[in-house]
Amino acid sequence: MSYTEDQYDAFQKRMHESHPEMFANPYGGFAVGPGWWPILESLCANIQSHLKWKNRSSEVVPQVMVAQIKEKFGGLRFYYDGGDDDIRGMVRMAEAWADHHCEECGKPGHRRDGGWMKTLCDEHEAERQAQMKKRFGDETDL
Ligand SMILES: [Zn+2]
Repeated sequence: MSYTEDQYDAFQKRMHESHPEMFANPYGGFAVGPGWWPILESLCANIQSHLKWKNRSSEVVPQVMVAQIKEKFGGLRFYYDGGDDDIRGMVRMAEAWADHHCEECGKPGHRRDGGWMKTLCDEHEAERQAQMKKRFGDETDL
């Protein structure tokens, strides 16, 4: 995908430093494109402030522990343990948001079929089509 290892490392470091509790267990890294990173960043910030706010009262919401973050069938999947119904709603919202934003650049996009499913903007879909043509020639009808 279109980001450097340094950019990925910086993002990961920022996330781990901001939310050490959430990323205390091994979870396999952020296996999604940079267009979705800002979605994950606000999701995690919202989860953590919700936990903080809730746990100030007598109610105790179990700490959210990220289990896996990946792309599946072109959509964002955020797997975790802990949390409550509000957090479940936040995660669903974030996954729905990703369905309409390019995984590469974050611009408005939608699900594309062909080969493997991806959520992309027009520009990155055109780029992917060109790459597939180069790779597979014209014999496929992807
Ligand atoms: Zn794009």
